[in-house]
Amino acid sequence: MTRHNKADAHPREISIFKLFRIAFIFLLFNAMPAFVQDIRVIDKKDDKTLTTLSTLEMEGYKFVKARDLADALNIDYTQNFETKQFIFLFQQISIIVTAVNPNIIIGSHIKQMPLETLLYHSNFYIPIQYFLHCVQDFIPFQVEFDTKQNILYISRPANTIVKVGIEEKENGLLLRIIATDHFPLDDIYLSETNGWLYVDFYGGFIDTLSSLHVKGLNKKIASVIPFQLSNESARIAFKLGTKIEEKTVYSEEQSQETLVSLRTEKNISQDLLVELEKEREKWKIDLIIIDPGHGGRDPGAIGKNGTYEKKITLEIAKKLKTEIEKQLDVKVLLTRNNDVFLPLERRTKYANQKNGKLFLSIHADSNPHRGLSGHTVYFMGPAKTEEARRAAQLENSVIRFEDTRNHYEELSDASFILAANAQNSFNKESQAFASAVNDELKNETGRNGYGVRQAGFYVLYGASMPNILIETGFLSNSANELDLNNKTYQQKIARAICQGIIKMKSQFEAM
Ligand SMILES: [Zn+2]
Repeated sequence: MTRHNKADAHPREISIFKLFRIAFIFLLFNAMPAFVQDIRVIDKKDDKTLTTLSTLEMEGYKFVKARDLADALNIDYTQNFETKQFIFLFQQISIIVTAVNPNIIIGSHIKQMPLETLLYHSNFYIPIQYFLHCVQDFIPFQVEFDTKQNILYISRPANTIVKVGIEEKENGLLLRIIATDHFPLDDIYLSETNGWLYVDFYGGFIDTLSSLHVKGLNKKIASVIPFQLSNESARIAFKLGTKIEEKTVYSEEQSQETLVSLRTEKNISQDLLVELEKEREKWKIDLIIIDPGHGGRDPGAIGKNGTYEKKITLEIAKKLKTEIEKQLDVKVLLTRNNDVFLPLERRTKYANQKNGKLFLSIHADSNPHRGLSGHTVYFMGPAKTEEARRAAQLENSVIRFEDTRNHYEELSDASFILAANAQNSFNKESQAFASAVNDELKNETGRNGYGVRQAGFYVLYGASMPNILIETGFLSNSANELDLNNKTYQQKIARAICQGIIKMKSQFEAM
């Protein structure tokens, strides 16, 4: 109905001539306008008559007092007879009409009406239809003018706030305010005073009789109080238990959700630095676990001349510990300090419990081919060569000394490797570690050895840190057996491994 009326009154239907004539008659001849039937203003929500607007009619066009209209809409106004301006003071926007002027200034916009605003007996009169047509999109009311019935319908879009959620985030709080309709960003105001944060919604409505749903009250926001400020604004007050460094409001197009982000932490980059430092601390190589292979009832490999692997591994391990402590500000722990038996599983478990950052298992090889000599550095992975598989098999075979070995036997070769790989997230680091140690062993001993290999060693299984197994030489080889029994050679091995650790440490900590 109203749309139709609006169309009837479309500005283009009035000729410039007509417009001129109205102004002309009115101003020059001071023609007496005809007072006609008042316009009834009705609240569309409940059909209640709010007020009536006294109306004057010129040439069939209705004018109303600007003041009456402001009162009917319940908004403030100011008028200035010198500048001949009448200003409607909406909460967000001022709308200015000027007497004997067809322009309306709406914020930063200028709209032109086909009729001028009039000043008559100290009253501003505005051509109601055209005025409403021009300002409709800028005011928080729906207005419909029924020209036949002479009724102005006003409806406030009641955007009801229904829910408030408070979520604690890493460096602050997120307030989630849900309404029945979208609030444009321009309609949301944030302010803070005396430990309260106010979120005001222009055009918002809060049914203060039925309680607002509030979720997530915490130490930082202990209380939420909703208010209906006026017909036009709703306020939600949040009692702050923390200092707010920064507040930002988000309201996505169409969304019924308004998000208010409150940063309570001083500086994000500061936080990040602290986080990073913590993370770095976590990875700082400050504890190294050395595992001397075998021990107790498990002698390990036995050399041609009767050397026990368990003795060699302990001697090298002790020298390595001394060397590391001399070279680096790092703590070193041995899985065993004397000739005791230690199940394989216990070795990495110990390393994990102590929160070790590197795990090295020290061993010496044995092979029926007595010609084989030199070191090999292993990291966990599927064996790629027969020798690697053999070495792992040999080392793994010591489980026969263990009282309970079911948990190893449950793992077939393939599934063991799979499980080990899935669990060992330090594969890359372990490989780099192995490579660093291998390079230094080559340098120190002047022997190439067998380089870096991968194989599935039970002893490395489950280590939650970069881990390697070092076969320092072949006890099955006479020359190697002699060397491994030699204190100076043992020291050489220890020095080489320590250099590898230093290299690994600098690489690892720089990551
Ligand atoms: Zn061994």
